[in-house]
Amino acid sequence: MSAMEVKTGKYSYYVEAKSQQIADRPRKFLEAFAAILDRSNYGLALEAYARLGSKCSRCASSCQLYMTTGDERDIPCRRSNLLLEVYRRYFTAAGQWRARLTGGFVLTDEYLDLMAEEYYRCTACRRCKMLCPLGIDHGLITHLARWLLAEVGIIPKALLVAVREQLEGVGNTSAIPVPALKDTCEFLEEEFRDIYGVDVKFPIDVEGAEYIFFPAVSDYLLEPDTLMGNAAVMHVTGGSWTIGTGNYDGINYGLFYSDRMMERIVYKMVAEARRLRAQKILVGECGHATRSAWFVPTFCGREGPQVVNFMQYTARALREGRIPLKGKVIEERVTYHDPCNIARSGRITEEPREILRAICTDFVEMFPNRTENLCCGGGGGTVSIDEIRAFRTGLMGKKKAEQIRATGAKIVVAPCANCKKQLREVCEDNGLADVQVVGLHDLLLKAIDFGVEKPAGENGS
Ligand code: SF4
Ligand code: SF4
Repeated sequence: MSAMEVKTGKYSYYVEAKSQQIADRPRKFLEAFAAILDRSNYGLALEAYARLGSKCSRCASSCQLYMTTGDERDIPCRRSNLLLEVYRRYFTAAGQWRARLTGGFVLTDEYLDLMAEEYYRCTACRRCKMLCPLGIDHGLITHLARWLLAEVGIIPKALLVAVREQLEGVGNTSAIPVPALKDTCEFLEEEFRDIYGVDVKFPIDVEGAEYIFFPAVSDYLLEPDTLMGNAAVMHVTGGSWTIGTGNYDGINYGLFYSDRMMERIVYKMVAEARRLRAQKILVGECGHATRSAWFVPTFCGREGPQVVNFMQYTARALREGRIPLKGKVIEERVTYHDPCNIARSGRITEEPREILRAICTDFVEMFPNRTENLCCGGGGGTVSIDEIRAFRTGLMGKKKAEQIRATGAKIVVAPCANCKKQLREVCEDNGLADVQVVGLHDLLLKAIDFGVEKPAGENGS
C-alpha cells in the first residue's frame, strides 16, 4: 500500500493514500502531536505507557467519577487508551507497519470529538496514578490530550476567554483594571482601620521587596477576607511584600489546556517580579496557581525567583512564634479540603493543619485526606465551565459531598479559589447549604491578636 509520509523532526506519521482526504482537524492534530513529541519529553512517558499492557483496572476504584457512575467509559485507563491508541498507531514503527498491512484505525473527526468529551470528564486530579502499580499518570495523559485538542481549536470557551483576557486583554482573568485594584486595596485598608483599629497596608509597586504577591485575581472581587488574612499575616510578621500593577493575577489556565499558554503566563509573572526586583513569588490561596508557578524553573531556568505558597509562609511564621494569636477562637466544627494541586502535586499537607489546630477547638479530618484526598470535583479548569455544573456537583463532586457530610463540620476550609467555588456549589446542590466554605487565612484573621484596643461598637470578627 502506498503511503504518504509527513515528517516533523525525528517523529513522523503515515497516512494511507486512500485516506488522503483525512479531515483537516485530524491532520493538524497529528502534526501538532509530532511537533510536541519532537520538542518535549512527553514521548518518553508515552513510549513507556504505550508498551505497558496491564488492564488490572485498579485505577477505576480510585476515580471518584467512576465510583459514582460505574460507567466503563470513566475507567481512567480506558480514557488514557484513547490517546495511547493514536500514539501507537501513528508514532511507533509497529503501529505504522500494522496499518500499512491491515489498515485499521484512522484518526477521524468523530474520534477527536470523543476525546474532547472524555478528557474534559477527567479533572486531571492524579489520584488514580497513586493506585496504578505501573505508575501510569492519567492526569499527565489528560493534560497532553487537552493540549493537542487545543491545537486544533477544541478548547472550552471559558478557559480560552480567560487566557485571552490575561495575555491580550486587560491583563488578568477577571478583567480588573489597575484603578479598580487600587480602589479595592484602599477599601480593604479602611476595613482594617474600622474593624480592627490597625493600619495594615496592601503595598503596591514597591521595588526590592522580598515577595511579590500573586493571588487568584478573582479574590479581589470574591474573597476579600482571604486577602485581609494574607495582609494581616504580612503585617504582624513584618514581611516585605508588594503587589505589582504590571501583573497581579496568579491564575494560569494554560495549565488546563496548553503548555504553550502556561509558559507565556509564567513568563509574564516572572517579568513582573523582575520589573520590581522581587526575590520570591508568593502565591495566594490557589492550588493551580501554585502548581503552575512551580514551573518557573522549567521555563525560566534555575535563576528564576523561588515560589512560595502562602500557607508555607504562614506556617513557618507561626512555628517561629511570629504570629500572635488570641487562642483557639474558632469553636464551630471545622474540616479541611486538600486541593489536589497543593496536596498531591505539591505535598503541602501539614502546614494548613498546623495553622488550623492552633486556632480551632474542633478540627476534624475528612477521609481520605492529604495526598489521597478526593478532588473537589471542579479541578482541571472544569469549575469555570458553568454549563456543566450538574455534572460537576452531581457526579464528579458527589463523593466529596458525602465526605463533607460525614464530618458533621459546618465550616470547610479550602485554600484554593477554584475549590471554594466548586465546593460551595457542591454543598448547595447536595443538601449541605448550611455548610460554609472559606479560605484558611479568613479563619486565621479572626484569631490574630493585633495587640490594639478595638474601636467601640466593633466586634473584630
Ligand atoms: S485523574 Fe482524577 S478524575 Fe482523572 S481519571 Fe484519574 S482519578 Fe479520575
Ligand atoms: S491501574 Fe494502571 S495498570 Fe491497572 S488498569 Fe489502571 S492504568 Fe492499567
